[in-house]
Amino acid sequence: APKIIGLTGGIGSGKTSVARFIEECGFPVYYSDDRAKDIVNENEDLKARIKKLLGNAAYDTNGLYDRKYVAEKVFNDKDLLEGLNEIIHPAIRSDFEEWVKVQKKYLIFKETALLFELKLNRECYKSVLVTAEDNIRMKRVMDRDGKTYREVQAIMEKQMPEKDKIKLADCIIYNNTNLEDLKEHTEKVIFDIE
Ligand code: ATP
Repeated sequence: APKIIGLTGGIGSGKTSVARFIEECGFPVYYSDDRAKDIVNENEDLKARIKKLLGNAAYDTNGLYDRKYVAEKVFNDKDLLEGLNEIIHPAIRSDFEEWVKVQKKYLIFKETALLFELKLNRECYKSVLVTAEDNIRMKRVMDRDGKTYREVQAIMEKQMPEKDKIKLADCIIYNNTNLEDLKEHTEKVIFDIE
């Protein structure tokens, strides 16, 4: 069986950039958050359960998941968010398990924002954390998404603090400089995993 490496980082840390570099090195990456976006449209049973929880408006007139509506609905409602997670997380888990079965490399990577929060690191051989200073992450996300300072801050405040993630991670990639450095650090870390 291949070794599964969990890859995580807070908003704007650069985990997706790292994941791309890993793919360039020839190792497969499962993008949990991306897959979650597809799964809510693919699986009819899931769709029905989400509508039951959040209302029919969770899907637009074309039958597509309305991300903005759902995000607004669950953002400040802990119970609804939990209910949604109880529907989506097991679906991602089984989708990931199917993906693992068809991989041929000895090292495979699972990118997920919630690696430590969901204790998914326990199911990985090693965990890799991408991290950067808060102000740098803030600027990257504001530039990338056109979000305001307050909007990004609200998201950051809901995530596990970097210092806690640093304690839990097996390997840490600091991403405070440029993408060239990031690529170099990434290669060093993945080829050092044994
Ligand atoms: P999110 O959780 O919000 O999806 P992420 O951790 O996946 O974020 P990326 O999307 O990889 O982060 O990076 C956030 C933004 O910052 C992107 O626009 C990316 O191109 C840019 N970026 C990442 N690292 C660097 C860097 N070292 N130098 C310059 N720009 C960077």
